[in-house]
Amino acid sequence: MKIVVCIKQVPDTTDVKINPETNTLVREGVASITNPFDEFAIEEGLRTREKYGGEVHVITMGPPQAIEVLKNALAVGCDKVYLVSDRAFAGADTLATAYAVSKTIEHIGGADLIFCGKQAIDGDTAQVGPGVATRLGIPQLTYVCKVREINVEQKKVVVERMMENGREVVESSLPALITVVKDINEPRLPSLLGIKRAAKAQIPTLSAKDINADENRLGLKGSPTWVTKVFTPEARGGGEVLKGELTDVVPLLINKLMDSKFIK
Ligand SMILES: Cc1cc2nc3c(=O)[nH]c(=O)nc-3n(C[C@H](O)[C@H](O)[C@H](O)COP(=O)(O)OP(=O)(O)OC[C@H]3O[C@@H](n4cnc5c(N)ncnc54)[C@H](O)[C@@H]3O)c2cc1C
Repeated sequence: MKIVVCIKQVPDTTDVKINPETNTLVREGVASITNPFDEFAIEEGLRTREKYGGEVHVITMGPPQAIEVLKNALAVGCDKVYLVSDRAFAGADTLATAYAVSKTIEHIGGADLIFCGKQAIDGDTAQVGPGVATRLGIPQLTYVCKVREINVEQKKVVVERMMENGREVVESSLPALITVVKDINEPRLPSLLGIKRAAKAQIPTLSAKDINADENRLGLKGSPTWVTKVFTPEARGGGEVLKGELTDVVPLLINKLMDSKFIK
């Protein structure tokens, strides 16, 4: 099994700051970590390798300092890592990011199974995983909380998806892309040997040219989304609490809903 895990370096805070003039994320002066959902994706990649054999390859698209998240991936036991970095990628929205990540996966020879996080804690769109699957023309299994079984010979995977009101069991053909939620596993800690190995590792960097990407589809050039305004909505005031016996409160509630035209 060739397993690819896509990870993103994010600011170590959910209190993301926005440059009010450019409406882009302020990354300077903020410590960076592996996107927490991607830690679960890495762990699931490793567990899949342990159960079914193969290799775990990890990719991240980002600036040179994103190498740190790849070192962490090596330290927990991933086999190969790739930094996808080029000025041409700067200012990418989710469309351009998904394109660059999918071209990278093609460049490294494809995958039987791709793991992504459910979403990144800074951009928060949850679009990149599905976007990568679409560009590669493979099925996407989102919000996965359990990989039940993989049949390597028959090229099939059965997963449980976390839904609002329960779990959905889905079977898919392989190759496929899975996005994971935090309930899927408990990520392991790196070993001392792993940390030493990661510290010494030479990490390959891939440019736009290396992954054979069309520069018009990358970075700002390839990003049709524009952020026109970023703001925090005003806090809503507390609602009204109806007190009393149920037999009195229910007709009162119905009248209020009718007055507000929520029901007829
Ligand atoms: C309208 C808009 C404009 C933006 N403009 C800019 C900008 O000008 N400059 C800027 O720096 N950022 C910008 N961003 C942020 C940037 O586009 C996103 O951070 C990026 O596309 C990933 O989207 P996301 O963070 O929502 O990831 P999600 O879709 O929430 O991530 C889901 C999963 O996809 C994978 N993934 C996500 N990103 C990567 C990656 N880079 N490499 C590998 N795997 C990945 C991970 O597995 C992750 O868990 C913009 C975002 C939007 C929505």
